[in-house]
Amino acid sequence: MRNELYIDGRWVKPVRGGSTEVINPATEEVIQTIAAATEEDVDLAVKAARRAFDKDGWPKLSGAQRATYLRSIADGIRARQAEIARLEVLDNGKPFPEADWDVADAAGCFDFYAGLAEQLDSNPEEGIALADDRFTSKAVREPIGVAGAIIPWNYPLLMAAWKVAPALAAGCTIVLKPAEQTSLTALELAAIADDVGLPAGVLNILTGAGSVAGQAIIDHKGVDKLAFTGSGPIGSKIMAAAARDIKRVSLELGGKSPFVVFEDADIDEAVEWIMFGIFWNQGQVCSATSRVLVHEEIYQRLLARLVEETNKITIGNGLDDGVLLGPLVSKRQYEQVLAAIEGARKAGATVACGGTRPEGFDKGYYLRPAVLVDVPLDSDAWVEEIFGPVVCVRPFRTEEEAIELANDSRFGLAAAVMSKDDVRAERVAAAFRAGIVWINCSQPTFTEAPWGGYKESGIGRELGRWGLENYLETKQITKYITDKPWGWYIK
Ligand code: NAD
Repeated sequence: MRNELYIDGRWVKPVRGGSTEVINPATEEVIQTIAAATEEDVDLAVKAARRAFDKDGWPKLSGAQRATYLRSIADGIRARQAEIARLEVLDNGKPFPEADWDVADAAGCFDFYAGLAEQLDSNPEEGIALADDRFTSKAVREPIGVAGAIIPWNYPLLMAAWKVAPALAAGCTIVLKPAEQTSLTALELAAIADDVGLPAGVLNILTGAGSVAGQAIIDHKGVDKLAFTGSGPIGSKIMAAAARDIKRVSLELGGKSPFVVFEDADIDEAVEWIMFGIFWNQGQVCSATSRVLVHEEIYQRLLARLVEETNKITIGNGLDDGVLLGPLVSKRQYEQVLAAIEGARKAGATVACGGTRPEGFDKGYYLRPAVLVDVPLDSDAWVEEIFGPVVCVRPFRTEEEAIELANDSRFGLAAAVMSKDDVRAERVAAAFRAGIVWINCSQPTFTEAPWGGYKESGIGRELGRWGLENYLETKQITKYITDKPWGWYIK
């Protein structure tokens, strides 16, 4: 395991020598210390990224040349997949099969953007038809410059891939700061990039506190674009910092996503997807469908099955076989989720199951997954993101009521609907005010498709070709092509 910063193609100690402890959420034990970068380290990293962009020629390489590096990084991740997934479990707590899936996805993300980098070569410019035939014009795409990326702890390596892969594909250079709780696999990504010979300064990875290293990245004048995934309040700070310097910005923030289940849905299928929608990754998923609206005709039956199945989930250390729910990521997150459940109870909600520490677990941030009912519509539990394995379930009578309840949120990241009536499902999908909509499922996420939110859930889209757009500028080049003098001043 590594405990230095990766700056300008080298492993270096932080200028001020600071460090942070890494805690295994399953055991509450310190597993190692990592470097805590400060403003000085960020400055060195941004300068290296600037040089790699402005002078060393990373953006001048062809897309195909950059794709070669991206594919080698993908191969490098795959070659160490099980080892990296295990590290992710130690750091984040998620069950190993989930971590293994994430790591494979991260590799796939590098492959996908390698393909898009190559496509940049085949579409280098777009001719523009002008009304004036004395001129020709074309539009070309160019990388924005140095990207500053800040990511959360819920999908540590995958979130790094979602930023690094499109940025490098576009020809940007990047300074990335992982979350202080889960930095280990990002450091391995730096090691893999180093092994494949990525030119110095193209990718810089700094561990450290958000309020110190993160703040220094967003404030740095040498950064052209900020890419952030995390909470709304920090997203707002980042947008304010971007506004000050007119930096480009993309934000992927939180949600309180609805899942509408109609009376014609198969109850077991619905329960399966409801559980996948909120208990996967311990519910620490920005797009988690945490507000479930069920048609009154099947509400009681569905609720009974949901409680029955929720109580059966195997909780434990993510490294143990058969575990489907690991510990929450940190003490702070654990306490916040417990407080949210207590707040719901005080507001009048009923805890149908879970919401307490499971028996036999004295250590670790373990929580029995919770189903809440009778949650008042104006209570925090219904309105605010809990970011844990806690689902609020509520009956509805009509489609109109379901849509109104679903959209009654300041967030708009995701939404899901389940019905055997495809026309109705499509109609409801169209009515959702959310950037990601699932029909007859919840959460499957594909690198090829756009990802991002409406309203307070963010700005811009990651993944797919939209993810590449995040890192590109558009330049018009217009040429005067006639020999005839312009003749405005000089006749
Ligand atoms: P957070 O906003 O506290 O932290 C996210 C990152 O921002 C971390 O790397 C942190 O160090 C950094 N940071 C903190 N203060 C900063 C500052 N002043 N300047 C710059 N960087 C700073 O959130 P979190 O606790 O890591 O993650 C949970 C939240 O993130 C949830 O609300 C969740 O919905 C959201 N999230 C959204 C998505 C998405 O795709 N939309 C994905 C994951 C998490």
